[in-house]
Amino acid sequence: MKFLFNIKFACVLCGDMTGQKVSLCCHCRSDLPIIEHACATCGIPLSVNNQSLCGECLQLKPTVDYTHSVFYYESPIDHLIGKMKYEGDLSCAAVLGDLLLESVSNIDQIPDVLIPVPLHNKRLVKRGFNQSIEISRAISKQLDVPLKIQCVQRTKPTQAQQSLNLKQRKQNIKGCFEVQKTLNYKHVVLIDDVITTGSTVNELARVLKKSGVEKVSVWSIARAVLK
Ligand SMILES: [Zn+2]
Ligand SMILES: [Zn+2]
Repeated sequence: MKFLFNIKFACVLCGDMTGQKVSLCCHCRSDLPIIEHACATCGIPLSVNNQSLCGECLQLKPTVDYTHSVFYYESPIDHLIGKMKYEGDLSCAAVLGDLLLESVSNIDQIPDVLIPVPLHNKRLVKRGFNQSIEISRAISKQLDVPLKIQCVQRTKPTQAQQSLNLKQRKQNIKGCFEVQKTLNYKHVVLIDDVITTGSTVNELARVLKKSGVEKVSVWSIARAVLK
């Protein structure tokens, strides 16, 4: 009976039984590509420990105020995110959400709300779920911060950002989001799976600040580093 019970908690990476109510074994967990030090504004990994902002953020202040990305977007995190997004494996979403929760649970500034980065309806219908909402669930519950799904919509379908350069990404995403009404939140945290250039979250932050939000932070599972 115990064996049957544990079957539910096979590691999403190696398939071994974890022996606990988690779907990631401790060996795979200790191998994850964690970001040790990063720019506080955009989350890009930095090698110099005493530097808190990257060169770009020092020169050109982004609209997002703070970014916390837990992992480099590389193996096996890219694999877990891909399994969640393209194979609809929601046990990966639960694992990723727990990892993000653990990483932010010591953050002292608890936001007023969590807003998962919205998908356009067309993509939502095609995928069947919004991965950012799935990742946010455990965080909302454990930190006791409400999850707001309807207050901002992605009104324009966009070309996938992967194939675009920074300038094209900014143009592609401009005017994509619409806020339903004036928002009475001081501090909003946007939740996303992967941050690549930050164009999407900065556009979202711009729209939110126009609607009255004072501070926009971003919590993401991974940060891609463009080579
Ligand atoms: Zn494992
Ligand atoms: Zn930066």
